[in-house]
Amino acid sequence: MRILVTNDDGIEAEGLHALVRACERVGEVTVVAPHHDRSASGHSITLHKPLRVQPARIPGARAEAWAATGTPADCVLLAVYGLLPARPDVVLCGINLGPNIGHDLTYSGTVSGAMEAAVLGIPAIAVSLDAEADPQYEVAASFAAALAEQVCRRGMPPDALLNVNVPNLDASRIRGVQVTRQSGRRYRSRLERRTDPRGRPYYWIAGERTSPEDAEPGTDSHALSHGFVSVTPLQMDLTHPALLSALVGWELDGLLPRR
Ligand code: MN
Repeated sequence: MRILVTNDDGIEAEGLHALVRACERVGEVTVVAPHHDRSASGHSITLHKPLRVQPARIPGARAEAWAATGTPADCVLLAVYGLLPARPDVVLCGINLGPNIGHDLTYSGTVSGAMEAAVLGIPAIAVSLDAEADPQYEVAASFAAALAEQVCRRGMPPDALLNVNVPNLDASRIRGVQVTRQSGRRYRSRLERRTDPRGRPYYWIAGERTSPEDAEPGTDSHALSHGFVSVTPLQMDLTHPALLSALVGWELDGLLPRR
């Protein structure tokens, strides 16, 4: 099994290193990861300047590794079209320091790295740890490596990926694995206006997390807050089926200028 590992926290992130070491126990691993932290870069790719790569080393691992100047999606493109001798069987992106649930998904470089693999038709898994401090990556790393094997054995529909979030708990305290759906809003957004030393205003995007107790059962957020690993199947097709049906009745033709 050929495994490509990337992330959005950067080549020096401990979560990446733990994931690479776990994946080496089940397959042949190559790493192409951003040179520095590209969290919340979403699915952006670099079109207006060159990308550069340099060899890197992952502590405790044999894997061939590169640090790249681009985003997680760039890293997947670089790997698949340039750096890898053969197409990977599966792409893993993580382990992110911090959960990726609810509306995080569209901002997340971790999820977007996996999405880029799905776009290229390669089965992919995004992996995140529900921790702000004192991360314990081992459970998430070994679960992700085992899940990668399952994904290769069972296959995945094209255009699909898995979004995995793991509680920051010892293996003995994790209650199990739940297959979940994406939860809704998790932040109350806030914009802070401050003044710089020259008297000009500047702004800082901030937000407060909504209480995890508000999460609906069956969602990623609910599973995590109850001590379960959450596995959410995602698809690249963002169409809203109910609104699609309703829109047909809006008679949008009538909005065109008279022909
Ligand atoms: Mn990150």
